[in-house]
Amino acid sequence: MNGAIRVPEFDLVIIGGGSGGYACALRSAQLGKSVALIEADKVGGTCLHRGCIPTKALLHSAEIADGAREGTKFGVKSSFDGIDMVGVNSYKDGVISRLHKGLQGLIKSRAITYVEGYGKLVSKNSVEVNGEIYTGKNIVLATGSFAKTLPGIEIDGKQIITSDHGTKMDYVPKSVIVLGGGVIGCEFASVWKSFGADVTIIEGLAHLVALEDESSSKQLERAFRKRGINFELGAFSKSVTKKKDSVEVTLENGKTFSAEILLVSVGRGPVSANLGYEEAGITLDRGYVLVDDKCRTNVPGIWAVGDLIPTQQLAHVGFAEGMLVAEEIAGLNPSPINYDGVPRVTYSDPEVASVGLTTAEAKRRGHDVVELTYDLAGNGKAQILGTAGSIKLIAEKDGPILGVHMVGARVGELLAEAELIFNWEARAVDVASLVHAHPTLSEAMGEAHMALAGKPLHAHG
Ligand SMILES: Cc1cc2nc3c(=O)[nH]c(=O)nc-3n(C[C@H](O)[C@H](O)[C@H](O)COP(=O)(O)OP(=O)(O)OC[C@H]3O[C@@H](n4cnc5c(N)ncnc54)[C@H](O)[C@@H]3O)c2cc1C
Repeated sequence: MNGAIRVPEFDLVIIGGGSGGYACALRSAQLGKSVALIEADKVGGTCLHRGCIPTKALLHSAEIADGAREGTKFGVKSSFDGIDMVGVNSYKDGVISRLHKGLQGLIKSRAITYVEGYGKLVSKNSVEVNGEIYTGKNIVLATGSFAKTLPGIEIDGKQIITSDHGTKMDYVPKSVIVLGGGVIGCEFASVWKSFGADVTIIEGLAHLVALEDESSSKQLERAFRKRGINFELGAFSKSVTKKKDSVEVTLENGKTFSAEILLVSVGRGPVSANLGYEEAGITLDRGYVLVDDKCRTNVPGIWAVGDLIPTQQLAHVGFAEGMLVAEEIAGLNPSPINYDGVPRVTYSDPEVASVGLTTAEAKRRGHDVVELTYDLAGNGKAQILGTAGSIKLIAEKDGPILGVHMVGARVGELLAEAELIFNWEARAVDVASLVHAHPTLSEAMGEAHMALAGKPLHAHG
């Protein structure tokens, strides 16, 4: 800190310009606050540059590849001649670059002081960057997360990679082992299978996307099996050996798998080491910064948002937390976030989407649960698209909807309605009286609620 230049004080100094940090900056500036936003790499963070956006672009290319393969099924003469990764990357990078430029423009237009550099907390109200001290009435920590690995598995970025490398590949591997069958692992498995690779997922828990309702996981597993994606469940890796042109993974159950590359997708850890957080007296747990329901740390004036805190690691959670902090600082007294009401999507083929409680969680919390599963086979649009899947509703007996769990093509787009239903505590009978457009997938949402309200139309029983 000695010899560092002092910059005039800001209302907020934010470390990290990812989803959480930039949302806080934009909202604070909108509320008339002076803001310094410090970013070591590129504004937009993980989501824009190596997370949500690139993976969804890859998944869209994957969908087009499958469309080309399956054209004849729909009477369209087409064939799949292969993947041109130069073309895929140019499309993907074009999307990222347009969004990045747009975001830079937004930051500029709101008169936010954007500082490029690596920030370090040097006192309870100041951050040092590039030899300058930025002092804030409030400090917001938004340094995000990194891809974790397991002991004994060294990421080399070539044969053994994480999602960071997976979003930037310039070739399609012949075969891949995906270690970790959570959201990120399943999305990459889906992409690579569509691109023509042999894919095997190894998951230590009993199911793929194990945080979802068990019924959704089972349907995804069935669909993946049908697509020829292999997986081993309840299986832990014992050792990983790099050979000249392959990686070998031996499991604790004695089985061995070999593939050209290994994607390690075993979760993400908080970026909080060596940043002065502990020295400032901030309470951490396994590296996560602990906060209350308004994202306040235990140190007055210091806040934390996004993947750095132990809430769901999702871009829209980061946005919501960033805006919450901005509004709290501006004295608007916003309501805390209801994390149960946050929508979740795995954008694989098929998609898995949900909001609210799983059956297991609803029962654990003591709800008297009723359930209904509407099979997409009865939905006209699902038949047209050729997708299988379902919408499962979980409700309190004679009460509100507690959870909506969906599997199938494009079901992520149905979450907007599911989210309103859950968060406005609608009952099946309330939704059953709403008219849904025909033929859309959203009709299945209406049908499911009609069936749960005791008046099924296009449903047996
Ligand atoms: C492969 C993948 C796919 C994903 N897909 C989705 C999805 O489809 N939907 C979804 O909602 N979420 C998705 N996520 C999660 C989402 O990307 C994160 O939840 C989100 O980016 C978290 O935002 P954040 O601001 O907390 O952290 P980050 O986005 O990680 O941003 C933190 C920023 O802080 C900067 N930084 C760190 N330390 C310093 C420092 N000392 N000084 C200055 N700057 C610093 C970093 O450079 C970074 O830009 C995905 C993640 C991955 C990895």
